[in-house]
This record gives sequence, C-alpha cells and structure tokens, in this order.
Amino acid sequence: LSSEKANALVIRLADFSESSRVVTLFTREFGKISALAKGAKRLKSAFESGLDLLSECRVVFLHRSSTSLDLLTESQLQRRFQPADGSLNHLYGGYYVAELLNGFTEEADPHPELYTSATDVLRELSSSESPLLPILKFELSILHEIGQLPDFDSCTNCQSPIEIGSGGRVQVFRDSLLCSDCSQPNYEGQQIQLGSVAIVRRIVQSNHDTLKRINMNKEQQQEIRRLVSAAISHALGRRPKTLGMLNFR
Ligand SMILES: [Zn+2]
Repeated sequence: LSSEKANALVIRLADFSESSRVVTLFTREFGKISALAKGAKRLKSAFESGLDLLSECRVVFLHRSSTSLDLLTESQLQRRFQPADGSLNHLYGGYYVAELLNGFTEEADPHPELYTSATDVLRELSSSESPLLPILKFELSILHEIGQLPDFDSCTNCQSPIEIGSGGRVQVFRDSLLCSDCSQPNYEGQQIQLGSVAIVRRIVQSNHDTLKRINMNKEQQQEIRRLVSAAISHALGRRPKTLGMLNFR
C-alpha cells in the first residue's frame, strides 16, 4: 500500500454510498485512476469542495491492488472549471473533454502532454470565444497521443502524398483521404476541399498562439467537423454521447 501524490482532473463522479463517492481522475503522473472518496458528500470532508467535475486538484491517494479501487485521502482544489458565462456550449465542451479523457485513456498509462492539452482546453472554454478551434485542437491532440491520428498528409490506400496545390477537392473514406488515382466515383464517402485539409494540418501543428490565427469559412468548418468527428468516433468505437450536445457555431 503506497501513498501517492498527483495533479488530477476530475473526469467522472459517481455516488457510492450515502456519504461516499467514486471519482475517476485523469492524473498527470499516473494516467487515469478510480478512487473511493469516503465522506466526500459530507460538507466537512478532507476534500473541501474540490471534487466537482473538471476541477483541477492536487490529490493524495493510496494505491491498492489493480483489482480494487484506490483510496483518495486528500484533495486540494487548484482550479475550478468555469465555462464562459451563461454558455451551455462551453459547459458541454467541458463535458465532451471529460468523456474523451475517460474513453481514450487507461489506468496506469500516463500521458503528461495530454494532461497539459486538457488543462489548456478547459482554460480556453472559460473565455467567451468560440470553442470550435480549442475543441478541434484537443480532439486532434488526444488522437495523436493514443496513436490514432489519421494521416492527413497522404492517401490511405497508396500512401502517395496529398498535395494541397491550388485547391480542389479530395475524397474522404471514413476519416481518411484518398488521392485522385484511388478515388472512385461510386465510393461511399464524401469529398472535402483541399483547403479544409490544409487547415486541419495547421491545427495539428499549432500551439496556443498560432491556433488563434486560424480562420475558416462556414463550409470548411462543417467539413472539418465531419472529418474530426468521424476520426474520434472511429477511434473510440462509438459516437461520443456529449458530441451531439455541442453546437459549433
Ligand atoms: Zn492513392
């Protein structure tokens, strides 16, 4: 039985008994953990008010065997999730981040860079700017972290590079691109502008500052959403429940 300290985001809360809860945490140091928080529902507990969904906390927990829940012994609130005033879309954006973190990560499999991406996007969701780009950035980051980012540079069939050139369109199969040689007129799927592919590549490579400078028109926005939603659903094996709650306008 060892006592561990970690930086953690609360990604799921479930009632366990009259007074206790099971919390799922995404920690920087240990990846996902599930821990029993005894007395968490009492007003005066060792967790103060630090166990709200998407709160960032410093926690202490006792690691038990892999078959039983860890035991949370302390939690200190670092930062509460504060979606932009009155915006359900920013709030749901946070729920979506929690669902993806829970769905894509495993216990005892740390991803410190993903932890940073998650705290970044939650911070962005507290500003009143549209959540579109920060959410896209987070989705592409999580796919990259788990090794499931589609190759937006080459054809999924023959691996030849997809040149953006002077524009035009490219065929999409599920969440992947097909070059003009591999495209088939009767293929199930759709086409997207090469300009949209270029924007997706820029989002993948962007940092906090360059992300803000990316512009897209309405059609590109819809095409990119469709492509990234397909990639997320494909990697997760289902469509995320909270994705449908989001309104990217
Ligand atoms: Zn090809």
